[in-house]
Amino acid sequence: MKPVRTAAQAGVVECPQCTAIFPRSRAGSACTRCGAALNLRKPDSLRRTWAFLLAAMVLYLPANLLPIMTTGTLFGTQSNTIMSGVVYLWHDQSYFVAAVVFCASIVIPIFKLAVLLMLVVTTQARSTWRPLERTRLYGMVEAVGRWSMVDVFVVALLASLVHLDALATVRPEPGAIAFGAVVVLTMLASMSFDPRLIWDPVDVHDTKA
Ligand SMILES: [Zn+2]
Repeated sequence: MKPVRTAAQAGVVECPQCTAIFPRSRAGSACTRCGAALNLRKPDSLRRTWAFLLAAMVLYLPANLLPIMTTGTLFGTQSNTIMSGVVYLWHDQSYFVAAVVFCASIVIPIFKLAVLLMLVVTTQARSTWRPLERTRLYGMVEAVGRWSMVDVFVVALLASLVHLDALATVRPEPGAIAFGAVVVLTMLASMSFDPRLIWDPVDVHDTKA
């Protein structure tokens, strides 16, 4: 890999909001133009990412094990988890909708959690393993994260699709709240992670202000 010069090596720190450049000694103070905090790296990035990520992983269990809704009809009530909702749609021959719900509510959240976990573990170990690929994976999580509201929307859609009989009532259950929390916590974990930390063990320099 071709050696590059980083901002920290050049003795400067960049404002994360207005991109003004200041001497490195100004790290820790505020930007004189827009007032944003100047930091060489996001403060406590790994600790914050760990906290949000662990909370998201813990809540992932109730999100998938608890019912997300109960539908009531004249003939009785039925509770569905995300997975049983997907199975219901599949048996109902709504293959496309079942596949979309499966991807948005199970595959993508697991992908995001797994990538973030791999990133915090390798970054904390100051690994120099495939920094470019790890940065790209982080970019993917950030790009997918922009569409996180789709995950929540799809689960809401699932609630309306599973039982659309007349006189049916749909009541949200705790699993839906846990699922929403997983989505939000994953976004916070992804926002807290500083991808520049991936490169710090590669370009050996100290980034302490
Ligand atoms: Zn600024």
